Amino acid sequence: MRYTFGMRTLREVIADAKERKVAVGHFNISDSTQFDAIAEVARELQVPVMIGVSEGERKFIGVQQAVALVQALRAVGQEIYLNADHTKTIDGIKEAIDAGFDEVLFDGTELKVDENIPKAKEAVAYARASSRDVIVEGELGYIGKSSAVLTEIPEGAGLDKTDPEVAARFVQETGIDMLAPSVGNIHGMLKDVPDPRIDIERILAISTAVSVPLVLHGASGNSDEDVAAAIQAGISVVHINTEIRVAYRHGIEEGLKKNDDVAPYKYLSVGAEEMKEVVRKKLQLFAKNG
Ligand SMILES: [Zn+2]
Repeated sequence: MRYTFGMRTLREVIADAKERKVAVGHFNISDSTQFDAIAEVARELQVPVMIGVSEGERKFIGVQQAVALVQALRAVGQEIYLNADHTKTIDGIKEAIDAGFDEVLFDGTELKVDENIPKAKEAVAYARASSRDVIVEGELGYIGKSSAVLTEIPEGAGLDKTDPEVAARFVQETGIDMLAPSVGNIHGMLKDVPDPRIDIERILAISTAVSVPLVLHGASGNSDEDVAAAIQAGISVVHINTEIRVAYRHGIEEGLKKNDDVAPYKYLSVGAEEMKEVVRKKLQLFAKNG
């Protein structure tokens, strides 16, 4: 990946957010319309931003294509970074690092901790052997896997909140750069009711036990109050996916209803506008200290 002179690396951006007790927003995309919408709001607010593509999302958009989108804006000076979100295989980790991603998340949450550790370690070794500074995130505790509107909490999700001592051992033994803990958060968001409360005390305990920045996944559906408190307690990156998916789809439906034009840019742009409102509110919230 090409770097514009003077541009901060993702590692520097996150270290700065941790220091200032704010968070970097991480938003997932499936296509370039969503990418443009997120990038535009980040430019307007003059904040760095992270783009995430999970295995399904990057299969759709293309691994190289996702890198090219980010690279195009980096070349003109925007602090925008790319994460290979929820990657379950080492082959997937290697592919993303080779393609030029800034970050990879090895998701071993469906493994036992003792199986998660060697794989996360392998991801770290591959990242360190690359010629670039690639961040490796590890994850502890199952929080569900679907970024969808849910009628109930997925079975088993959020039950095994991350133990601060296990977190410390996990970070120490794997050498990961960031940790995604299970602290009452779930992927997806509940229909009509708020998500369960985030366990702020647990975040504080984990951030005291480990020195690496913490990442809050599945923050769609959580109250602004909870997310702000989570950031003050030690969260440095916040992931939002479901809420922007809902806004994008709703906007496209409205765009299709409004006219029977077949030009995709006409109805997709209505989806982008609705998405931008969500992204703007989230980025403003994450940038506030206290
Ligand atoms: Zn996630």
